[in-house]
Amino acid sequence: MSAFVRVVLDRSIRRELDYAVPDALAEKVAVGSRIRVPFRDKSLLATVVAELDESPAEGIKPIEALIGEKPTLSSSLIELARWMANYYCCPIETVMRSLLPQVIRKAKVSWKKQLFVAPTRQPSPEEIEKLRRRAPRQAELLSAVAQLPGPIPATDLLRQTLLDNATLRALVRRGWAELREQEMARDPHAAEKFVADSELTLNSEQTAALQLVAAALENPATHPPILLHGVTGSGKTEVYLQAIRATLARGKTAIVLVPEISLTPQTVERFKSRFAEQPEMVAVLHSHLSEGERHDEWHKLHSGNARIVIGARSAVFAPLENLGLIVVDEEHETSYKQEEAPRYHARDVAIVRAKIEKCVVLLGTATPSLESYHNAERGKYVLSNLTQRVDQCQMPLIRIVDLRQERRKEKAAPILSEKLRNAIEIRLNNKEQTILFLNRRGFSTSLLCSQCGKARDCPNCSVALTFHRTNTRLSCHLCGHSAAVPKRCPECGEDALIYAGFGTEKVEANVSAIFPHAVVRRMDADSMTRKDAYRETLHAFRAGKIDILVGTQMIAKGLHFPNVTLVGIINADLALHLPDFRAGERTFQLLTQVAGRAGRGETPGEVFVQTYTPFSPSIQFARHHDFAGYFQQELEFRERCDFPPFKHVVLITVRSEHEARASFSAETLARRLKEALPEEFSLGAPAPAPLEKLQGHYRFHILLRGAAIMRLSRMIRETLDKLPFPEDVAVAVDVDPYQLL
Ligand SMILES: [Zn+2]
Ligand SMILES: [Zn+2]
Repeated sequence: MSAFVRVVLDRSIRRELDYAVPDALAEKVAVGSRIRVPFRDKSLLATVVAELDESPAEGIKPIEALIGEKPTLSSSLIELARWMANYYCCPIETVMRSLLPQVIRKAKVSWKKQLFVAPTRQPSPEEIEKLRRRAPRQAELLSAVAQLPGPIPATDLLRQTLLDNATLRALVRRGWAELREQEMARDPHAAEKFVADSELTLNSEQTAALQLVAAALENPATHPPILLHGVTGSGKTEVYLQAIRATLARGKTAIVLVPEISLTPQTVERFKSRFAEQPEMVAVLHSHLSEGERHDEWHKLHSGNARIVIGARSAVFAPLENLGLIVVDEEHETSYKQEEAPRYHARDVAIVRAKIEKCVVLLGTATPSLESYHNAERGKYVLSNLTQRVDQCQMPLIRIVDLRQERRKEKAAPILSEKLRNAIEIRLNNKEQTILFLNRRGFSTSLLCSQCGKARDCPNCSVALTFHRTNTRLSCHLCGHSAAVPKRCPECGEDALIYAGFGTEKVEANVSAIFPHAVVRRMDADSMTRKDAYRETLHAFRAGKIDILVGTQMIAKGLHFPNVTLVGIINADLALHLPDFRAGERTFQLLTQVAGRAGRGETPGEVFVQTYTPFSPSIQFARHHDFAGYFQQELEFRERCDFPPFKHVVLITVRSEHEARASFSAETLARRLKEALPEEFSLGAPAPAPLEKLQGHYRFHILLRGAAIMRLSRMIRETLDKLPFPEDVAVAVDVDPYQLL
């Protein structure tokens, strides 16, 4: 109980303020409470971050109101927010926005209220008969109400009896039934039935992994994070499920993070089914929930009714108390990194939250990130290996197709090489299924003029427009700009325009033309715009109604289809040639993950990788399933070039609609940083970003590197605070960036 509190306003003012606590609220206000405070002439929402006995501030005003009885955030989460603000070089107000879902912050949505019907007293058969003569429909409803075991929602009763609201109201007026308003949870999975499943028998490697988690749960304060490196199909999820069971048995709670793209109905079903004996136990948090559903799922966790949460990135902030375990599945996934402020990485935040709350972290993946594997080698993490696929399935056989030779053979490089075509033919004859993967949407990736060679570029971004045949338009995949296809070249008037390059739409068309009797479907952001399209396509594929599935990374992750025996990677070079030090790592991960989709049943799988660079190390190591070899050579490259995990990277982007102003501001900032930073930090010269223009803004990059990241972050913050930038110039600081374009 304190006289004053320090608060962070929801509005960014880069300053924390002190307020007085009125006596009436003194018992209830605590660190993590959400409150309403006067600020200038407004009333604003804020979060209490500290309790104070005295305050040095003058003219202190009292708090206006407290929101909710129990503090919304725990003091551990406030501590985590502070760490994030310091590490990621951003204001704590910005961190707070990520910590609480908007629907909780604004506190406008509440539980759904519904009217429930209950009988007031039991009518005798004579009374019902008497009513039937005057009002037959009321009598019918009354006999239904009389048979109710307990209150049920009025809408359900009316639906069952096919009677209307007026009849029900009349019955209530006569005193036979009463209506009561009750709160009820909106359940995003209400329509689904989860059948309880039982634990699977673990093999010896899985057992060892589980024992490691159990030992960590005994000693959570001192146990290092566990890195579970398991090949695709090695049964990592079963280890997670049993580890969570062990966590609950100790009276603790668990967070499971999965990449948004893998948060499929399939994944949710597996967790809900395992803990089906208590339907409230598992809450789900992801971006497709309605505001009301998000409110309810969050409160289920906050109240302690749900003790497991499965969710995407932001579920790392789930309001669970007594946290025992955080699982980060597919820890290498770059989608754990948030691309807007606060630019945090959910895996790294999970490690810090676990340290603060003294809980166990389990990172799982088939292709560990260089950072995590390096930590395991240095003893900062404990490594646990699953080298066998469950049920003794074979690892798929990976074959490399050299597109340079194919081009020589057939004059132009075909979309499907002869070898891949033959392999598909065999699968069609055997009634087996094929997945074709290409990490690029659309039909043609550029429209060129045959005379002057100019491509149709996006007016807002420095990239070529992609042609989409479905709506016969050109569109920009970065800003969404859309344009009609010109009849002739706007530059020189030539009417012979060439469609060059290809995306998934063209692969689909090409495959359908070669195999006219096969059922071909496409799965990418363009074909999956309808809400249930994703689920329906997966169902159809699982049921064997689709022979060939063409898609982008949407089909690369975690899906399990026993009848898929062939995977074709149409162009393995797409990621490899980006100007990004992680290009090799991404290619290795992608090839391993996509290849892992093949041969999950009894028939061994086969993978064809089409490439122009068959001897690149990432492709060769992936081909031989050689993670150790790949890791060693990639690590040497990173060390030679001072890249992570040896040095932290910070990328500053300065952007403006005016090229000169962006460039001038970047130059000035770089000069100030050079003055401020000691020698141990390296500072690159400001340069136009590889993607120089994006959404109408000119962009300049400054790249910094250093080992002591907290110190570097602080110095960048201090330098920025002293520099007045013109209003139309925006500066973004990205610590440990994953997007270098
Ligand atoms: Zn032209
Ligand atoms: Zn654009």
